[in-house]
Parts: sequence; structure tokens; C-alpha cells
Amino acid sequence: MQNRNQLYINGQWVTPSGRNTIDVINASTEEVMATIPDGDENDAHAAVAAARAAFDGWSATPPAARADYLRKIHEGLKARSQELAEVIAGEVGMPVKLSAAIQVGSPVANFGYYAKLAGEFEWEEVTGHSRVVREAVGVAVCITPWNYPLHQIAAKVAAAMAAGCTVVLKPSEVAPLNAFILAEVIDAAGVPPGVFNLVSGTGPVVGEALVRHADVDMVSFTGSTRAGKRISEVAAATVKRVALELGGKSASVILDDADLGAAVKGTVNACFLNSGQTCSAHTRMLVPESRYEEAAAIAAEVAAKFTVGDPFGGTAKLGPLVSAAQRDRVRDYIRKGIEEGAEVLCGGPDAPADLPKGYYVQPTVFGRVKPDSTIAQEEIFGPVLSIITYKDEDEAVRIANGTLYGLAGGVWAGSDERAQQVARRLRTGQVDINGGAFNLFAPFGGYKQSGRGREMGKYGMEEFLEYKSLQFKP
Ligand code: NAD
Repeated sequence: MQNRNQLYINGQWVTPSGRNTIDVINASTEEVMATIPDGDENDAHAAVAAARAAFDGWSATPPAARADYLRKIHEGLKARSQELAEVIAGEVGMPVKLSAAIQVGSPVANFGYYAKLAGEFEWEEVTGHSRVVREAVGVAVCITPWNYPLHQIAAKVAAAMAAGCTVVLKPSEVAPLNAFILAEVIDAAGVPPGVFNLVSGTGPVVGEALVRHADVDMVSFTGSTRAGKRISEVAAATVKRVALELGGKSASVILDDADLGAAVKGTVNACFLNSGQTCSAHTRMLVPESRYEEAAAIAAEVAAKFTVGDPFGGTAKLGPLVSAAQRDRVRDYIRKGIEEGAEVLCGGPDAPADLPKGYYVQPTVFGRVKPDSTIAQEEIFGPVLSIITYKDEDEAVRIANGTLYGLAGGVWAGSDERAQQVARRLRTGQVDINGGAFNLFAPFGGYKQSGRGREMGKYGMEEFLEYKSLQFKP
């Protein structure tokens, strides 16, 4: 991967204001993959100025013409899919085959979807003596994390551009290389200057300069609840619209009549995907007290099959964690779980054997976890599953809802009808019914401290739209 020493602003690759750079580290080799500019306030201001200047033209461009550009971006990304999968396998650590399907397939499809939606959306409607017009919010700053980096970028950038917003993207400094490829694709698609701008750097410096800027109308953020709170505070000074996709501590509720084998296996998979670095990971498995021993044995057996190793090697199911800091944090949580008295059914805090390089941890399953313990309350963001028992359905719902978060969850039962009844009692934005899966067209977002607003589908584009009422004489 070549070094990246320029930012993409106003339709051009430009030299950043300062000389500082950030190393992007390969999670499995611990080597530097490339360096990127550590942008500063001047870069943020230049990008916002370009986006502001482009806004009137882009928002007035007919949606069908905006759709044509999005279609070209979709095609351009598709053509570079393999390269993107390899880059993300390097910077994030997800095995390359899985990366191709999940980290790349979904965002590429999303650009295609928003192209279609822009062409089909009902941009106006009449109610009584008013015509209600949907208009772009304005300049949108999109700030994204590292765990599904291109997916989170596409969910924001494609929706914002389809809506008629102009965009400044600040990708994660931990996994930014995919965003530079996207900028090249957008440039090659001939998107007018200033419609899409890319600045790289750290959150507290370039990120906050963007959030603070008076010419920015909206911030769409995905990341930790801690940073989301800070962004909300900074954005409040100029009353910006803020959409937040934050952390989670989701529960998989297994009811007494569920197919236990399928439910436990499905939960372990939903917890360990991307080495547990998934905001909607099912990190708490709730099982009836009477079925604990059986569930614990199945979980340990399934988890033991999660081979850990080189993301480019072809056989490992799990790669390393994204960084040394993340690995250390996860191991600390595993030690904390042991200290708090949970049973280790599989895994543990030690490094996995025979992997001298790379930020690997052992997939770990804890049994008999107390619902109020640290590992059952805090987001670990690693392959760590906590099994918690409950006496009856009411208690299961109480435990599932008993964290600060409300992002996702799952319910397993003898029938979809019964599972749905319990799902409706969960205070979360999405619930998988008997192994149901993520849907690109359904709204995705959190209740409580998991965030505000929704991404994906038409709901995601609506976040970037204002309502305007044209009032006629009655
Ligand atoms: P993070 O909050 O550290 O960083 C996310 C992004 O915000 C990065 O680009 C970072 O540079 C920027 N940032 C940090 N502080 C900032 C500030 N003060 N002002 C402006 N920008 C700032 O999160 P992360 O470690 O990259 O990602 C992991 C977190 O993201 C987890 O908590 C996870 O649950 C969450 N997440 C949520 C969703 C969701 O859809 N709800 C999806 C993925 C990840």
C-alpha cells in the first residue's frame, strides 16, 4: 500500500496544512502499512469551505443525476473490491474472504441502493393546503470508526450524497486506507468538486474542528458513546443536527422452548464475528436456569472451533484485534471477569499459542456471569461472551434491558410468534428473531445511550433531509 500524503478537498488531492503523519498498522504483522496525513484545523476549514461552496449546485442537481454519480461510484468500488478486501483485512484484521463479503460487499451494494433510492424517492407530498418538500440538510460531516470502516462510511456518504448534502468525511485514523480508495473512486466518477471531501487525522483535533465549524449543518457520527457525548456537547453550540450510532451490549435471549443447539451456535457466531468488534454483537447470552449446563457445554464446544490466526492464511475464522490497545483492553476485561467470579468455560487472558506477532486474543466464554458485573455491563469489543441465567421471561427481559445501551439483540424461541412478543419488550433498535440477520434496507440504530437516529435504507437518507412546508391559501 502506498503512503498517502494528501487530502481530497474540492475535487483535488491537496497537500495538508501540517507535516505530521499517522502510521496505519497491519493488525496481524504489527508492521506499518502506510502513513496518512494528520490533518489539522486548517484542513478542516478548507474542506468545509469546499463543501459549502458546492452545496447549492449539488442540492439543486436533479436526484436522477445524483443517482448517476452514485451508480458510477458503485461500479468503481465493485471494480476495486478485491483490493479493498485486502486493505481492510490488513488494517482491521478480519480474514480476507469474510472481509470481501462483509466489509466490502455490503458497502458496495449500499452505493447501488442509494442510487436507486434517489431516483425513486417521493421528494414532495401534499397535505391539506400545504406542499411538503424534502430538502438536503446542508453540509454533512461524517465521522466513522474502524471496525467496519467502509460499511460505516457508505451508510453515511451514499445516503448524504443521495439526499443532496455535500460531505466532509473524517474516517477512523486506525483504519483509514479504504477511505482513500473511496476518494479515488469518487474522483474517477467525475463527482463535482466539493461534493465529497476527505480529511484524515485524529478525533480531538481535526474531528472536533469539523464538529465545531459554524458552516457545518449536520454531524453524522459512528463510534464510542464517550466520543458521541463529546460531539453532542461541541455541536450544541451551533445547534447542529447530530446523528449518533454508538456502542452496545446486546443480549441474545434464549427462551425455554428454543432449539438450544441452533440458538447457542447462532449467539456465539453473533458475538465473535470480526473478533467481537461489532457494535451490535450479541455479547450476553441469557439462558433459562434449568438449561444452563447444557447451554454452557454447547457454547464451549462451538467457541473452541473458532480458530484464530492469519487473516490472509485462508483457514482462520478469527483474525487479530485491530490494535495493541484494543488487545490489551480486551485481556484486561477477561482478567476482570475472572476476578469478579465468572467461570471460564473456554479461552482466557493469555495470548493464543504460536502467534508471536499480531494483536490476537483467545475467544473466551464466561459462564454464570452476574448481570450487574463489569463484563456484563460494559462494551468489551472483543470475542468475549457472557452467559447469564434467568428464572422466568420477565426476568430475562429485565436483564436484557438492564444496561445503558439499547442497540441490538436477539430472541430465540419455539416459534417466531413467541420470539416476537419478547422482542417487542426489548428497548433496542433491532432484534434478530430466531437467527434473523442484518438487512441493508431496514433502519439500524440505537435506543438509550446507543445513539440517536437511524441509518440504512430510506430511513438513513431521511436523516440527511429537512422538511419544508410551502403554505398556500386554504
Ligand atoms: P471512537 O469513538 O474512538 O472513534 C470513532 C471516530 O470518532 C474516529 O474517527 C475518531 O477519530 C473520532 N473521534 C473521536 N473523538 C472525537 C471527538 N472528540 N470529536 C470528533 N471526532 C472524534 O470509536 P472507535 O474506537 O473508532 O470505534 C469503536 C466504537 O464504535 C465502539 O464503541 C462501537 O460500539 C462503536 N460503533 C457503533 C456502531 C453503531 O452503528 N452503533 C457501529 C460501529 C461501531
